[in-house]
Amino acid sequence: MLLGAHVSIAKGVYLAPARGEEIGANAIQIFSKNQSQWVGKPITEDDAEKFKKALKESTIEAVVIHDSYLINLGSPDEMLLEKSRQAFLDEMDRAERLGVPDLVFHPGSYLKTSEALGLNKIVESLNFVLSERPDYTVRLLLETTAGQGTNLGYSFEQLAYIRDGIEQKERTGICLDTAHIFAAGYDIRSKAAYVGTMGKFETILGLENLRAFHLNDSKKPLGSRVDRHENIGKGFIGPDAFRLIMKDERLQHIPKILETPGGPEAYKVDIQTLLKLLKG
Ligand code: ZN
Ligand code: MN
Ligand code: MN
Repeated sequence: MLLGAHVSIAKGVYLAPARGEEIGANAIQIFSKNQSQWVGKPITEDDAEKFKKALKESTIEAVVIHDSYLINLGSPDEMLLEKSRQAFLDEMDRAERLGVPDLVFHPGSYLKTSEALGLNKIVESLNFVLSERPDYTVRLLLETTAGQGTNLGYSFEQLAYIRDGIEQKERTGICLDTAHIFAAGYDIRSKAAYVGTMGKFETILGLENLRAFHLNDSKKPLGSRVDRHENIGKGFIGPDAFRLIMKDERLQHIPKILETPGGPEAYKVDIQTLLKLLKG
């Protein structure tokens, strides 16, 4: 079982593995730079070596990077689109340098245009960044979204549409966020609902393309299209869904990352809650 949470890189990315260990994780998600910047201070060979060494000496077995929230690969504004694409290339460079195999990102928002135009911009952006870095091994994971505002990627069909437009699909995958899909209208609270939703995922996107989970409960109800994370078992999703995920043998090998509120102490509790659900 690969289980953990999003941890801080404050004072150095190499400190992240220890922060994961401290909360009882064996999988972590990190930002590779300060979230509020478009492009970060470059990762030197020395930074990368320090991180790889710290990772190797820790009990952390899986790492994913989450991209900056500033990036919008579907922006209708030419300047912002170009800025986003360059910032995304920087994210890919950083992930590659750190040797992190998966980069999670939100597909994008269409703002004042339309869903169709936004989806096509995202496809174009992804083909562009992949062609700019032809020999990279980092995989780009499209995250399922809640569909808040004009955010795209709130249906499995939209994600499949994007993926279908990508020339090198094998360099992409999906990150499933439980709070997001629930807010987008996919129920997972009962065995029947869970089987139904995962069945749709399997048919439309393929389980083999599911590379990471964000395990979050939701402060907002089913179909609310509002993205507010809650601690495991404390929100509108409730514990049963997380028990079903934890016990699903097809998903054993997939990293499961918490992005729940409350910081390290709350992560500890959420990890213990999930491990109890796995047993109980
Ligand atoms: Zn995300
Ligand atoms: Mn997420
Ligand atoms: Mn969210």
